[in-house]
Amino acid sequence: MKYKITAAKESLDPSPTLKFFNELSKAEEWISNEVDLRTEPIRMAGVCTNKEIEEEREIERSLITLESIPDESYGPVHEEYNFTDDFGDYKAALDAYNDIDIPMNFLDRKTETLIILIEECGEVIQESCKLIRFPQNDVSKLTKELGDLQCMINLTAQHLGIGTMAIGSQVNKKREKLKEFSSLID
Ligand SMILES: [Mg+2]
Repeated sequence: MKYKITAAKESLDPSPTLKFFNELSKAEEWISNEVDLRTEPIRMAGVCTNKEIEEEREIERSLITLESIPDESYGPVHEEYNFTDDFGDYKAALDAYNDIDIPMNFLDRKTETLIILIEECGEVIQESCKLIRFPQNDVSKLTKELGDLQCMINLTAQHLGIGTMAIGSQVNKKREKLKEFSSLID
């Protein structure tokens, strides 16, 4: 197993830093140091409580993903190498993988995630339309597609570095709006 870190600077960072490690402990150490580095300014400022600093650490930690990659197979879904802005990391990745050939006909993970998300949105739309046209149908097909979509929402958050807290906060905002502009929430 090798270990890959994707460290986004913000939730929609288009070119996150990529790091590759042979040992899990080294990868975890890098993450810990990175979070320390990112939260150093507010720690040094001395105006935040420990709880606030801890919250800030959690936010920064949520922008960094750690995943394991099999040694032998690099898989059909290739990682998103950035050939322009992050050449240093790309070269480090090549060094880490020595002679492994990189297939060039890959979909990067972000694109694959978005495509399947779009597909599932379409399937939810289709089942919703069918329930309007055939109200006698039960909701089992819509239930399945809602589950598929929920799965892709979670994976989109994971692979695009979107904090689940940020999504949750938007859920609350939408509910508030619906109270005003719909009859769905009492
Ligand atoms: Mg589906």
